[in-house]
Amino acid sequence: MKLCSGKTTEGKRCNAPAGASGLCAFHDPKQARKRALGRKLGGKRNRVASDATFPAKLASPKDVRALLEAITADLTKHENSISRARVLVSVATASLETWKVGSLEDRLAALERVAEGMRK
Ligand SMILES: [Zn+2]
Repeated sequence: MKLCSGKTTEGKRCNAPAGASGLCAFHDPKQARKRALGRKLGGKRNRVASDATFPAKLASPKDVRALLEAITADLTKHENSISRARVLVSVATASLETWKVGSLEDRLAALERVAEGMRK
């Protein structure tokens, strides 16, 4: 089997099998269009159609929670992966944070109502 006469980025000889041109698919300039098409198709195959709608504003913990829920729902359409797992962990962490803040806001509002009643 004839090996590619191209060189790697480190300047070493390429060890990939050579085609009729004496170069491998990665080094043959005539295959550039084919490589570009392959990259494009690869990108399209990995893409998942999303019809998710995300909240337009993030003015309260409730808005943030709505966003996190939309992200979680959208993630269920994607294949399981390390990246997806990382995003889910981030969403879970952020959810806990919004829950804490939301809970504090509710308690503060309740205390303010009581204080308002005492002033009258
Ligand atoms: Zn090569």
